[in-house]
Amino acid sequence: MKRSVSVLSGVGPARQKILAEAGIESIGDLLYYFPRRYVDRTLTDSTVLQAGHEVTLIVVVQNQYVTHGRRGSRLVVQVRTLTGEGLTLVWFRGVPYFRKLIESDQTLIVSGRLDFFQGLQMVHPDFELIDADDQQALVHVGRIIPLYPTTESLRKQHLDSRGFRRLISQALELADLEVEEVIPDTILNSRALAGRREALSQIHYPESHDRLQAAQHRMKYEELFLFGVLMVQKKRSRAEIPRQVHPVSPGISKEFERLRETLPFRLTADQENAIGQILNAVGGSESGAFLLQGDVGSGKTVVALAIALHYIDAGLQVALMAPTEVLARQHFQTLVNLIGLSENTRIEMVAGQGAKTKSRQAAIERIRTGDANLVVGTHALIEDAIEFSRLGLVVIDEQHRFGVEQREKIRSKGLNPDTIAMTATPIPRSLCLTEYADLDLVLLRERPAGRKPVQTLLLNEARRSGLHKSIRKHVSMGRQCFIVYPVIDESAKLDLRAASDAYEELSKTVFPDFRVGLLHGRLKAAEKERTMSDFRSGRLQILVTTTVIEVGIDVPNATIMVVEHAERFGISQLHQLRGRVGRGSEESFCVLVSDAEGEEALQRLTAIRDTDDGFTLAEIDMQMRGPGELLGLRQHGFPGFLLADLLGDRDLAEVAHSDANRYPDIGEEARRLIRRRFQQGVSVFPN
Ligand code: ADP
Ligand code: MG
Repeated sequence: MKRSVSVLSGVGPARQKILAEAGIESIGDLLYYFPRRYVDRTLTDSTVLQAGHEVTLIVVVQNQYVTHGRRGSRLVVQVRTLTGEGLTLVWFRGVPYFRKLIESDQTLIVSGRLDFFQGLQMVHPDFELIDADDQQALVHVGRIIPLYPTTESLRKQHLDSRGFRRLISQALELADLEVEEVIPDTILNSRALAGRREALSQIHYPESHDRLQAAQHRMKYEELFLFGVLMVQKKRSRAEIPRQVHPVSPGISKEFERLRETLPFRLTADQENAIGQILNAVGGSESGAFLLQGDVGSGKTVVALAIALHYIDAGLQVALMAPTEVLARQHFQTLVNLIGLSENTRIEMVAGQGAKTKSRQAAIERIRTGDANLVVGTHALIEDAIEFSRLGLVVIDEQHRFGVEQREKIRSKGLNPDTIAMTATPIPRSLCLTEYADLDLVLLRERPAGRKPVQTLLLNEARRSGLHKSIRKHVSMGRQCFIVYPVIDESAKLDLRAASDAYEELSKTVFPDFRVGLLHGRLKAAEKERTMSDFRSGRLQILVTTTVIEVGIDVPNATIMVVEHAERFGISQLHQLRGRVGRGSEESFCVLVSDAEGEEALQRLTAIRDTDDGFTLAEIDMQMRGPGELLGLRQHGFPGFLLADLLGDRDLAEVAHSDANRYPDIGEEARRLIRRRFQQGVSVFPN
């Protein structure tokens, strides 16, 4: 299994290089290069042939001739099956080529659909010449045939499905004695799973549909199980390093009691529970990692702050990392407002990657000495320049915007600190069992009282003047309004045109009497900050913007969210945007403007219009786009599931996950497989 593919006949340096580029270096890799799909080429019973059927037959050529008709020439080959039935094979294209190739008395295996035209015939059949000494032919026909994924560069090396079949059949023979089992026997028995050798061989060369299915089932289980084991190991390794720092116990944080008294609202029961649940879990010697999941507007920030204060009271530092600068600044503002003046809680902000200003240097110094103990920032917090003196808790907001490595990197700056990853994306359970299995789930179900659901409308261009009228009415009553434009690339000037043009028109022509602002990613940090704080304070009434405000932004007086070209946004993005309104007690609206007619776009837009429940929307989103997209994992590399589908195989995921918890001790081959498949960049098992 570990031997290089170069031991196979037919693999020279050129092929070896191309295969390596496709991630195939060893015999084992090749065996895990699974077919994309299969075609059934098992031999048909030739005594019951019928027009309209797909068949595969062994036939012997009787004679052949070419006819010339109005539609050009045509090659007619008359053949007989082994049981004596006659039929005709016909080619309209490649006549000279096939004419030369196919000779009388030649034996062929042909596959295709039978037609009736003056007798049974097959047009342009797939076929293979069989010589008495050509056993390889049977690799391609006469059975269920695997079709392999391939690329242009693989095909250049003749590594199409046929080429892969040749290599893999050799690899299987070579590996036969080396295939070790990686799933414990007890599980194989109790779950009635096929063995690894059987599964690998049947997945490439299925002898029947049943055995193929059993093989696929086994390989899916294997992926889910091994990934589950990886998660268990991650949790364990976290637990192995005894923690050096502890927050104060629940109930005795003075800073938190102070916050509670000055808080302009009462914490909901869910918020209280979440705070208690996390604080109780971090009392022991194991460091904790939590996924705090609550729909947009459920009030996660204050939960994080409440917990943070318990660390601060214990003399520890807390880092709060957000995916955008706009959001980091808002958090900074929120924290400053909520905490007010405090001797004990000293808040610091770090953004703008790489900047080397004096004030930044000073901030870095305060963090290093521990003078700053509540540090808010963007990815900039991960930079090497930032060192903490006693980092005890890391809070990651909108965590799906960060990669696993980024999460690990910031953790590494502390003394095995606890982590709280926050997300509004209700991660479907099957995903929690895999990608997030090393985190403990903490839920905020209810939203703060007094919120009215946001009314969502779907409008087309024809109704724009009506929309402007409504905006005018609400803004006149003192409310504020977001108008969002899709921008793919915040650094591309052209992309920002729509937003800036709209800003010009809205501020000069449509609402000259209102104060309109423009916010996008290309503005200088200071400008962004000013615009955002002007909007927050109510000085600006309408904010024309891009998705820089997509996540996290909290301006309770804003009650209208207009999304232009709404069809260009994904479901979860729209739900996030809608979450920017409906945060106060006033009635709020989300208006999706779109002239889209495409079915998929309409499906998305109506889903958003008709449901407000983040969980339902996440499920729809996942069905439409697959789980990788939903979590932004496409960007960060999705764990290497080749077969398992987290939507379709959720039941199996549950079973495999619970087995992984019971039998996490695996052998060397299984560890190797885990490293190869799931662990680029994440170190759990040392090499
Ligand atoms: P999210 O969970 O989306 O991050 P935020 O933390 O931004 O939500 O909170 C949304 C809004 O709800 C904020 O304005 C916050 O001050 C407010 N809020 C949080 N908790 C409560 C509560 N218990 N009662 C009323 N308002 C609350
Ligand atoms: Mg938030």
